[in-house]
Amino acid sequence: MSEPVVVETVEAMRAWSRMAMKAGRSVGFVPTMGALHAGHTSLMERARKENDAVVVSIYVNPTQFGIGEDFAKYPRSLDADRKLCGEAGVECIFAPKNLYETGACSFIEVGGLQEHLCGISRPGHFRGVATVVAKLFNIVEADRAYFGMKDAQQLVIIQTMVRDLNMSVTIVPCEIVREPDGLAMSSRNRYLSVTERKLALVVPRALDCFRAAIKNGERDAMKIVGEMANILAERDEVEIDYCAIVDAHTLEDVTKIKGDVLAAVAVKIGKTRLIDNARFEGL
Ligand code: AMP
Repeated sequence: MSEPVVVETVEAMRAWSRMAMKAGRSVGFVPTMGALHAGHTSLMERARKENDAVVVSIYVNPTQFGIGEDFAKYPRSLDADRKLCGEAGVECIFAPKNLYETGACSFIEVGGLQEHLCGISRPGHFRGVATVVAKLFNIVEADRAYFGMKDAQQLVIIQTMVRDLNMSVTIVPCEIVREPDGLAMSSRNRYLSVTERKLALVVPRALDCFRAAIKNGERDAMKIVGEMANILAERDEVEIDYCAIVDAHTLEDVTKIKGDVLAAVAVKIGKTRLIDNARFEGL
């Protein structure tokens, strides 16, 4: 497998994409913040299967981090990332150095969706995400873009943005990839100490409890949320940000479980914030 080319400017990325387009090659795009793991490579592999060429962006986007969040210490590992991308058949890595113009003052807000779940404790986060993803879409001009269901709120916000602003890219949702013990893979898992890594298993356990309750026919959301919260609260070191069952499309809390629903959890363990979710459709 040949090494992917690394493109560092908006102009060079555009030129690469235009060449691919001119050659009649379809392009699959995987936006990331780097520190790549098997969750990311599953997106790349899917993109490889469904397109002639794959572009991965690696960019730790400052505008989606709030004050006091981990922007400065977010893991950066371009050499290892490049190797993983090569193994996954990625042709081009976009690691932009000039993404924001000085004085940039245009932003994308995606209505009420950004007010729920992570939007409450991370004000401005989804405005930063939607804006950078729109910019990347405009530069890369891919046919398809691949997003993990791990970031369920991000996914629904991007899908809504694409629909509302008539963007031509097709969004492809991809399954959550987990460690063998059930913890969802995340670049932030590398912040966890050995003890914290063990504590983090309360998150997949809480989601297992949700899945088991649904399979047993329970449809009272508050009852299940209570059981999930009890699992998360077993250890004082685990601080619950939210534990909710929401409509998968509106992200509004539900009382009676019906249709497409999402159990979504965010916790803080030490300084590390982890999110995860489980989904059922057509209940
Ligand atoms: P990030 O680098 O964390 O911004 O993630 C880039 C993309 O990878 C997003 O679409 C994420 O949802 C996706 N992703 C991250 N972790 C996982 C995972 N464990 N399984 C599937 N997709 C993931």
